[in-house]
Amino acid sequence: MYKNIENYYDSFKETRIKERAFSYDLWLQLIDEWKNNPALTVSEIGNTYEGKPIHQVKFGTGPIHICAWSQMHGDEATATMALADIFLFLSKKGDNFTELREILHQKITLFVIPRLNADGAERWTRETALGIDMNRDARKLNSPEAKILHDWAHQINPTFSFNLHDQHRLYSVGNTPHQTHIALLSTTGDESGTWTDSRLRSGKLANRLTQIVEKIYPNKIAKWTDEYNTRAFGDYFQGQNFGLILLESGGAGWDLEKQSLRKTTACLLLDAFYAIATEEWKSEDLSTYESLLTNERNIFDIKLLNAPLRKNDTSIRADIGLNISEEYIDGKIAFMWTLEEIGDLDIYSGLIEIDASDYQLSDLQYLEKGKNYTSLKMTFDQQTVFDLTDYTNKINK
Ligand SMILES: [Zn+2]
Repeated sequence: MYKNIENYYDSFKETRIKERAFSYDLWLQLIDEWKNNPALTVSEIGNTYEGKPIHQVKFGTGPIHICAWSQMHGDEATATMALADIFLFLSKKGDNFTELREILHQKITLFVIPRLNADGAERWTRETALGIDMNRDARKLNSPEAKILHDWAHQINPTFSFNLHDQHRLYSVGNTPHQTHIALLSTTGDESGTWTDSRLRSGKLANRLTQIVEKIYPNKIAKWTDEYNTRAFGDYFQGQNFGLILLESGGAGWDLEKQSLRKTTACLLLDAFYAIATEEWKSEDLSTYESLLTNERNIFDIKLLNAPLRKNDTSIRADIGLNISEEYIDGKIAFMWTLEEIGDLDIYSGLIEIDASDYQLSDLQYLEKGKNYTSLKMTFDQQTVFDLTDYTNKINK
């Protein structure tokens, strides 16, 4: 089913969303359209600390309850974009997916909070307006948004639930040179990691999703560590029998706005809903999922080996690791380069690796750890052989 949906993606992509930090005006417009969409039911289930409404979008009338929420962390919006695509898919008519939609409509009821931490989304911060990390608030429920999520899920009592996040784009699959594109976790609901019925449901579904992602991004899928965290919603909800899967969008090379991962997430979730509605997930085991390596931090965007550190003394050299960093300025994400590390970086990999043993600094006198760079050039035989702006120009192309 995944492939069929993916081939059809361009026809249900919400094309007005072009980037993760899309505007609040567009958000309000989308909410209005979903409200007027006969396939969906939109309701307000509460307010953020600053009084922004938190919306639930509902689809279907089936006995199997599924819930999903995105942007519990305000600056993690890849799945929110995917959910907007899914809402378009679910409301389309007269195409080859009428039967699929009918199955979903009859077998499942889908409850979605597309943007939980609306205050954080506006500031582009992980935390809520009170500075609370909602995913460490599952027990105390100090933030009003966590309380809303808690009560909402208990009312729905889902068979499956999807906790949708973005993770740092430079996580690697174990200690390999591969950038984690997608990470999954069938969370544990107790200290000893028992494979309860709830965890088995999510694990079997994760097994199906792992096989799909392996085909799209070979070697670029990982799992999160399944160490039990009592304060995290994923772990708490697994203990409540909610069949919880954590799905994280990681990095995708130069696609910093992660439109490729948005597409994968949209199609993956639709495939998961299909597998739940048809109960195909029951025929899975756990072997592929369990063979996944855990997320590690093993890569830099660019690793220059044996690079010059001083312009006036070319004998002073070391490896350097350059990473793209993001800053939220005036409603937009700006990208810049940070010199993350200088030294022996032999144990790490670079998405780009360059042997700079013969290079010299040309536009700078020296390199400094932790500093942001827009320009950084190196020469060999008076020719420019490395120019950081060449890479800046690749971003989202
Ligand atoms: Zn997160």
